[in-house]
Amino acid sequence: MAWSNWSGSVTAPADITRPQSEDELAALIRSAAKVRATGAGHSFMPLCESSELILGLDALPGQISIAPDRTVARIPAGWSIKKLTAALWDEGLALANQGDVNPQSLAGAMATGTHGTGVDLGSLSTMARGFQLIGADGEARWCDAATDPDLYQAQRLSLGLFGVATEIEVAVVPAFHLAERIEKRRWAEVRESYDALAQQHRHIEFWFFPHADDVILKTLEPCDPCDPPPSTTDMEETAFRRVLDVAAKLPFLTPMLQRTMMRSRFEGRRRGPAHAIFPSDRTIRFEEMEYELPRSEGLAALDEVVGWIRKKRLPVTFPFEYRTVAADDIWMSPMNAGPVAAISMHQYAKMPWADLFADAEAIFRAHRGRPHWAKRHTLTRGDVDALYPMAERYRAVRRTIDPQGKFVNPHLESLFS
Ligand SMILES: Cc1cc2nc3c(=O)[nH]c(=O)nc-3n(C[C@H](O)[C@H](O)[C@H](O)COP(=O)(O)OP(=O)(O)OC[C@H]3O[C@@H](n4cnc5c(N)ncnc54)[C@H](O)[C@@H]3O)c2cc1C
Repeated sequence: MAWSNWSGSVTAPADITRPQSEDELAALIRSAAKVRATGAGHSFMPLCESSELILGLDALPGQISIAPDRTVARIPAGWSIKKLTAALWDEGLALANQGDVNPQSLAGAMATGTHGTGVDLGSLSTMARGFQLIGADGEARWCDAATDPDLYQAQRLSLGLFGVATEIEVAVVPAFHLAERIEKRRWAEVRESYDALAQQHRHIEFWFFPHADDVILKTLEPCDPCDPPPSTTDMEETAFRRVLDVAAKLPFLTPMLQRTMMRSRFEGRRRGPAHAIFPSDRTIRFEEMEYELPRSEGLAALDEVVGWIRKKRLPVTFPFEYRTVAADDIWMSPMNAGPVAAISMHQYAKMPWADLFADAEAIFRAHRGRPHWAKRHTLTRGDVDALYPMAERYRAVRRTIDPQGKFVNPHLESLFS
């Protein structure tokens, strides 16, 4: 059976091979000419696609181990965020931040700079303290900031180029509870006060249907442990799916449909363990592009993109998502030049997206944006060099660790070979 990513936009001829032991994993890597690892296949770019072997680690045995000072945990790299955060919770621990969903593997999320939202909170890649990797020769090696700083730096946002990660040491924090609040607010009002709001809340984001005048604002705040357990108040997906299916058949109705939909009530409150409150269910398939922009450019870029969509009455059926991520020092991270505003543009998977994304991408690029590596972008090798001063050093580590290009596929070859 063929492999496909979550959205269905990337496929490969062979399904995932799932080794049951590290020896089997090493033997498979040693004997293959081309290897890509995959987690949950949630990337929109062809990162996991391979003409030969796609490896999944979910059948490997492994367990979590906590350092005596309880600030770091060593975690099997193929575990999903859902599984590992539940295991951490049982130990009284948590990740400081998470993204929108939790089926991603730890290795896959870190390999692409996956992030949540929070003015002072970095991506998951910033939480990595060390990696156990199986290299192209099938040998295991450990890297961290002290033992192999260049490999560690590259591996923090690796795109799977430096070997297959089997274990990752991750910074953890004491377990905490969160209170979620979702409400509909006037866009003009949120636009005006966004910076102040972002300082007031540990986590804040908003969803913005480009043809509507209101946005859906979501905040998460630490709270006391609570009883009873959380109740779900997510956006009503069945109604949304109906709207999308109408828009797919009659795209010109999109502006009217969005304005009508946004007349509904959007209100929700949940409380509970942080790892249960961070993620939402995403059952409707979409395609996504995301750009990380200098924080001071974010709202102006969003104004421009939304203005263009409204002027042309374009059928962009999903809302934009607007988040904030802290700066980091990771070679290939789009956050490495300072704190960013992260703007995600989505389109229903049953509708055309490429031309819409290309035009919006030009606007984001003009505002000094850099793309999320897992989401749709059209960067060339020259763009990568212009945007990332450390790109050539990253490539040099790749050449040393994998001289035959075993872990490279056509997409990655065009950027990093
Ligand atoms: C519904 C949905 C919601 C999302 N929400 C967010 C969000 O809130 N924030 C955000 O930033 N992104 C988000 N994303 C993007 C997603 O987090 C990334 O695509 C992430 O990489 C997916 O993890 P995965 O396990 O599916 O990795 P995959 O897509 O399977 O792989 C991603 C990369 O990791 C590499 N890799 C995987 N496992 C290993 C391993 N063991 N060793 C070495 N390399 C490996 C792969 O080779 C590939 O290069 C979302 C995507 C979807 C579809």
